Amino acid sequence: MLRASLCRSVRKWVPRRWWHVISVGLVTYIICTFVYTGHYFLNRQIAIGSEAQQSDALPRFVINSDSNAKLIIKTHSSNDSVVQPLVFKEQKVNAGLGENHNQPEAKFKDDNGNDADDVKDGNEPRGAAAEHKGDIEKDKHQEVTAQPEEEQYPPLVFDDEGQGQMGEPVHIDEGNLHGEDKEKYKAGFSNNDFNEYASNLISVDRRLPDMRDPLCKSLTYPDALPPTSVIICFLNEAWSVLIRSVHSVINRTPPHLLKELILVDDGSSHENLKKPLEIYMKKFPKVKILRNVQPEGLMRARILGAKFASGKILTFLDSHIECTTNWLPPLLMRIRMNSTRVVWPAIPGIDRKTFAFKTNVDAKVLQVGIFTWSLVYTWETPRLEDRATPISPVKSPTMPGGLFAIDRDFFFHIGTYDDGMSFWGAENVEISFRIWMCGGSIELIPCSVVGHIFRSRNPNSGGANTGKWTRNTLRTAAVWLDEYKHFYSRVSGRKLVNYGDVSARLQLRQQLQCRSFQWYLENVYTTAFLPKRATLSGLIHSNHNASFCIHGEYDQMNRLVLIRKCEKKYFHNQVFYVMPNDELRLIANCMDIGKGRPILYPCHRMKGNQDIRYTKNRTIYHPPSNTCLTWLQHSDKLDLRACDGGTRQEWFWEKVPWTDV
Ligand code: UDP
Ligand code: MN
Repeated sequence: MLRASLCRSVRKWVPRRWWHVISVGLVTYIICTFVYTGHYFLNRQIAIGSEAQQSDALPRFVINSDSNAKLIIKTHSSNDSVVQPLVFKEQKVNAGLGENHNQPEAKFKDDNGNDADDVKDGNEPRGAAAEHKGDIEKDKHQEVTAQPEEEQYPPLVFDDEGQGQMGEPVHIDEGNLHGEDKEKYKAGFSNNDFNEYASNLISVDRRLPDMRDPLCKSLTYPDALPPTSVIICFLNEAWSVLIRSVHSVINRTPPHLLKELILVDDGSSHENLKKPLEIYMKKFPKVKILRNVQPEGLMRARILGAKFASGKILTFLDSHIECTTNWLPPLLMRIRMNSTRVVWPAIPGIDRKTFAFKTNVDAKVLQVGIFTWSLVYTWETPRLEDRATPISPVKSPTMPGGLFAIDRDFFFHIGTYDDGMSFWGAENVEISFRIWMCGGSIELIPCSVVGHIFRSRNPNSGGANTGKWTRNTLRTAAVWLDEYKHFYSRVSGRKLVNYGDVSARLQLRQQLQCRSFQWYLENVYTTAFLPKRATLSGLIHSNHNASFCIHGEYDQMNRLVLIRKCEKKYFHNQVFYVMPNDELRLIANCMDIGKGRPILYPCHRMKGNQDIRYTKNRTIYHPPSNTCLTWLQHSDKLDLRACDGGTRQEWFWEKVPWTDV
């Protein structure tokens, strides 16, 4: 009604010849308003993303390469990751500890098990993903026909017989390179700290040898394992290296176990990782691409991927890896049996200079994760005696963090990552403490082998990322180390300040009723140095000149123990610990008299060279050689000499309790 009378008045007052012009104008106006409003909101959302980056509220936009580059706005709130009251199947508190870690739970082929649907292990890489094989074959043609050349950055190699096949090294002699090639070679190293130039010559589908312990080849796994979402975060990863990582997942994962492969771009600036990557990945319907507006760090990038993921299990991988034969079932199997287990594969190195990748992963080369008292991740060789077979899962106090699988519900239950951390580093130690202390366990699975390019420096460190590792480490110490945080502070020389607000993480720890750090040291990282156990600790002054002390470099093995002025600056290098088993420790290293002069060497608990006693005569005495630690004349050196009762062999302690800061 209203509309009809309005039309009549308009006709009355507006001359007929203008009607046409007005209606065209109106239609144009409506279209323009529509388009403009849409544009405004789109830009606004992206802008919100960047503002939020600064305010830590973190909305992000997500492009799903499955569809036609949809724009989905995801709003992240830190509340999402707080505790969900979940009950886990087969979960026991500290499930990892009471169990026998020595039982391989996959069956041996000659085992008379009745799992009729077991699949044979040892699938050939490409055959394993027959569903995808067709895609790759097709793409060899698409490479020429469907993809504009500039989108390949640089052209990928799909040559089955070319360089680097079967993990063979590709040697590039820089001296033989000239002009543009030489520039590319140099840029490859400086951008990535690995030889991108060599990678570009190697097929992204290269075949690899089966590097597993031969015992693994006779294991079988049930077909019905929970499928996984693989999540790979990347920040300006080298093109051919990223593509090879994706291919290796697709080629060597049974399709029914791969729910999706989520690539999370952590705000990369490389052009090829934008539209060209989306175009390239269209051939893999399971690949989805999410993007952070700006780099936010691998912790928040992984949280984003995890929230988006729909698989029962999350498998995180780095963006410079190669999966090998049957890498996934051994991981999924362990989680299927107990969803509080977090598992990681054996990770041999892909050579950063030659891309050689052919390390046999036998029991002797396996190493589990530990940490130093500066909270730096490091490795330890597990005792073979503790394992029933060379391929049994191995309990691991920490994990390297780049490559692991975890039940999705359990990941959220224990609080994903500390989203107050950024860039890179310490998140692996933090999540390891959290897993163990809050009811889970971590295992290295020797029959799952995934290669990784280990680098000597992080190409993204420096600039805005400076200091972030330290801050992440301080957050870890503040939340998880209890009274040991002061010990960390002393050893690392870092004050426990300027690490931001950790109250939400402390609250999480309380809600989950996690155990103490002391419990973790006594039950999980049992080879850790426990300063609490020392019978005496402090600076060791010389009685010859009391302003001089025994001094060592606590974090460097094989270095001589010397005499230096007693100074606060050298606190962590001069505070020694007398242990009940007659070791003289400087944190992880022990005084070792080896071949003559005293050095610092990792403690082996077997006395001998490390049998050092502080006697009531104030000597530092080595019973096996019946000698005393002696300050040599006119020198800063120490040696072991026949005990003579002189002041150069007399030492006294300035006690420093381990809890002092
Ligand atoms: N990464 C990221 N954002 C960052 C730093 C790293 O997404 O700010 C990604 C990186 O591309 C890699 C993974 O996180 O896939 C682990 O980082 P990196 O390989 O540098 O660590 P490393 O293996 O040397 O410990
Ligand atoms: Mn890495």
